[in-house]
Amino acid sequence: MENPQPTIVPVGIDQDPHIRLTRDLTRRYYKGYFIPGATYHYLLAGIDGSDKMAKRNPNSYFTFNEPLESIEKKIMGALTGGRKNKKEQQKLGGEPQKCMIYKMLMYTFEEDDEKLANDFESCIKGELMCGDHKRECIEKVLKFVENHRKKKEKLLDKAKKLLNID
Ligand code: SF4
Repeated sequence: MENPQPTIVPVGIDQDPHIRLTRDLTRRYYKGYFIPGATYHYLLAGIDGSDKMAKRNPNSYFTFNEPLESIEKKIMGALTGGRKNKKEQQKLGGEPQKCMIYKMLMYTFEEDDEKLANDFESCIKGELMCGDHKRECIEKVLKFVENHRKKKEKLLDKAKKLLNID
C-alpha cells in the first residue's frame, strides 16, 4: 500500500493527549493524509490482584487458547473483595469495587447491566458469596471462550487467504 491509509489506534484514556497532538500535527503538516482516529479502552489489572497482566506472571491473565481447566483454575484463584469467611461476609458485605471477578464480568463477560447492578448490591449487603459468584463467572467465561474458538475455527481459512498464508 503506497498511498496514505486511514488509521485507528486502540489506546487507554491516558494516551489521549498523544492522539490529539498527532491529529493536530497531521492537520497542520501532512496535507492529503487521513486524520488518525482512536478507540479508547479500559485496561483490566492482573486478575490475581497484581498491577497489570504480565507474561512473567501467568496467574495474572488467561488467554483464549489455553486449556479450559487452566482458565478455570486461574479464575478460582482470582482476587475478590470478599471477607475472610462466610460469617464475616454476611455481616460486613463484600467489596465489589476491589474485586477482579466483578470487574471481569463488568468489562466483558456479563452484558446485562441490571444483573451487574443487582450483584453489586447483593455483594455489599452480604447476600452474594464469592464461591458462588466465581462459579458463575467461570461458566460465563468458558462459554464465551468455547464460542470464540468455534467462530475462529470457521473463519481460519478465510483469514489465511486474506493474509496469503498457506
Ligand atoms: S461476592 Fe462476587 S463481587 Fe462480591 S467480592 Fe465476592 S466475588 Fe467479588
